[in-house]
Amino acid sequence: MADRKPIISGNWKMHNNHLEAIQLVQQLSYKLTKEDIKAVDITIHPPFTDIRSVQTVLEADKIPVGLGAQNCHWEEKGAFTGEIAPGMLSKLSVKFVIVGHSERRQLFGETDEMINNKVKAVLKAEMTPILACGETLEEREADEAVAKVSGQVKAGLAGVKADQVAEMVIAYEPIWAIGTGETASPEDAQQMCKTVRDTVRDLYNDATADSVRIQYGGSVKPANAPELMAQPDIDGALVGGACLDADDFHRVIAFRDAG
Ligand code: PEP
Repeated sequence: MADRKPIISGNWKMHNNHLEAIQLVQQLSYKLTKEDIKAVDITIHPPFTDIRSVQTVLEADKIPVGLGAQNCHWEEKGAFTGEIAPGMLSKLSVKFVIVGHSERRQLFGETDEMINNKVKAVLKAEMTPILACGETLEEREADEAVAKVSGQVKAGLAGVKADQVAEMVIAYEPIWAIGTGETASPEDAQQMCKTVRDTVRDLYNDATADSVRIQYGGSVKPANAPELMAQPDIDGALVGGACLDADDFHRVIAFRDAG
């Protein structure tokens, strides 16, 4: 089995103006140790208006945190009022883009086809997509979680080559656990992350499935991170609420120090 380095990503959502953003990045950087950096890849995903400021701080202070975005359009340019092109992000040293977050799917009507176009556009702009997928509570209760999530993964990866998928990140985020304080049990999270990996295995091959990194997201906090991260198919976390506090986010990053 491939040796996958955990990747922990902070999704700031619509929080922090650019001044608050600078402060949060600096607070986080003071806490990061050499051991953290060696053990875990870290990405942060501020709002678009903060990206230039965060880029400047990360580069000036040589902070080893990957710069990420929360979304982008799939076209390179054009009459798309209010949208941001992948190339605009890569030019600002953005390396990771969350694609298909459930809030984008549910609140902004993003379809599997749009999300697939975004995945391909992010790859074309030489960034790494973090493809998010997850089921609703109704789907889980109706025993449809596996079908829903594997369907989203298949649709999101349509037309993407094996070597690209091997370098990607897929985030399994049960919608009922996002921002609710409810976390999937480590066993359920493991089962669903394995479903994601098995879907990649069916679509591609063992090498691709064993290389792609799969995050769990949904109310990850310092207290539950160690148990979640101990699961064999969980290679990291996509963190919302807890990444807005530098200490909490750092304690998630340093999950291996707990206990
Ligand atoms: C998220 O935004 O992807 C998320 C998982 O949020 P939270 O950690 O707040 O549940």
